[in-house]
Amino acid sequence: MSKNNDKASAGKASADKAPTKAKAPETFFEVHKRQLSDAFAVADCGEPALTILAEPKNEIIMNFPVRMDNGKYRLFKGYRIQHNNLLGPYKGGIRFHHTVHLEEVKALAALMTYKCSLLQIPFGGAKGGITINPREHSQQELERITRRFTHHLGNNIGPEYDIPAPDMGTNSQTMVWMMDTYMNTLSSSNKNALRHIVTGKSLLSGGSVGRQKATGQGVVYCIQEWAKERDFVLDGATVSIQGFGNVGSHTALILAKLGVSVVAVNDHTGSIINPEGINPHKLRDWVRKNGGIKGYPGAAACTKDDFWSTQVDLLIPAAMELQVTAEVARQIQAKVIVEGANGPLHFEADEILAERNIDVIPDILANAGGVVVSYFEWIQNKRSETWEVEVVDSKLHVRMRKAYQRVREFAEEKGVNRRVAALALAIERIDQVYAERGIFP
Ligand code: NAD
Repeated sequence: MSKNNDKASAGKASADKAPTKAKAPETFFEVHKRQLSDAFAVADCGEPALTILAEPKNEIIMNFPVRMDNGKYRLFKGYRIQHNNLLGPYKGGIRFHHTVHLEEVKALAALMTYKCSLLQIPFGGAKGGITINPREHSQQELERITRRFTHHLGNNIGPEYDIPAPDMGTNSQTMVWMMDTYMNTLSSSNKNALRHIVTGKSLLSGGSVGRQKATGQGVVYCIQEWAKERDFVLDGATVSIQGFGNVGSHTALILAKLGVSVVAVNDHTGSIINPEGINPHKLRDWVRKNGGIKGYPGAAACTKDDFWSTQVDLLIPAAMELQVTAEVARQIQAKVIVEGANGPLHFEADEILAERNIDVIPDILANAGGVVVSYFEWIQNKRSETWEVEVVDSKLHVRMRKAYQRVREFAEEKGVNRRVAALALAIERIDQVYAERGIFP
């Protein structure tokens, strides 16, 4: 049959049948649910946890007006999703990013529940955010947006109820604005007893030493455990990092002290490569000045495919979720992927990487350092204490090491991957509390 005939019959077939819609890509929450279902299959869990954890407890969606620098008003959409508070107050970051939407925040909130459970800290899980590109706003606008958002949240947050922290697009300044707004809308007599309304604050305003670098520090503690387990020498090793913000840059700076060399970086502005090594201090200064890695003089520009397929020992996604598709998973040439970001892998990527003998240290373990030190900040605020950085780091190290070992042992015992093991351990703990407490009435 000629090509033309092929076309004619294809045209007829499509005329006979209603056109089929292309399948929408899986959302982050859908991917998370598939991962969770694998975990429930191996966890020693009753029915209550399976039913209750399927959806968040509260979904708060707000539209609030803010006056822009040009005098005009603009409406913003903000979210606070409170997934579960069985183990303690809701806890989780606030994201400012133009892609923030309900499904994304739901997945991030659920991951917080499991992260806190796995690390055995007395918090539940939540996440929030505003659909906004923070780079398009002046500092004055960002302050007004943050304050209006906090005011609109009202009593939906509280130091013993729901405690926000920084995430993508937010930082210690954002947290200080949130704290100040919250304090000033309540009675002035106990203002200073409310500093623990947010964590990740600046040191001057009640933050903890070691909090800024905490997520990167936790990532590195996991890498050190992995290296011990695999008998791998970190001095002289190589790493690629996606995202050079809080998590990516601190991970790179701490790894440099261990002799690990950064050879490729990708962020929202592009990808760069230098097989001789990229100086993380100079790159961080460049990013601070220029808003991204693009144009950094100490490396060559490369494509995103080059970034993913660079031969390295360690690969650290530390940007957005769902970055590693099945196709990307087939290109990766690393020994281990350590998830600085939340949810960077698609469901199929886990299977492909397992077949290719590439280890994955999952998000709820690898990037838990941030929430662990947030917990330390919360305790310090409640007790009016300030701890030394050595105390913070050593307490963090103990928790990360123990959690890593629990995940490793569970994975080996049940013959599952570490994501399934980490989630299963987290839900087993929650399930045991439901079994003890039941639901009221
Ligand atoms: P950040 O805002 O400081 O930095 C984000 C980085 O991601 C930037 O380098 C940005 O260029 C890059 N990026 C954004 N969109 C991208 C895209 N489409 N492609 C490639 N790069 C892109 O954010 P952060 O606090 O470092 O958070 C990064 C990740 O780590 C997020 O998944 C976050 O949820 C997770 N995380 C953060 C913390 C924390 O303490 N900040 C704790 C746990 C997990």
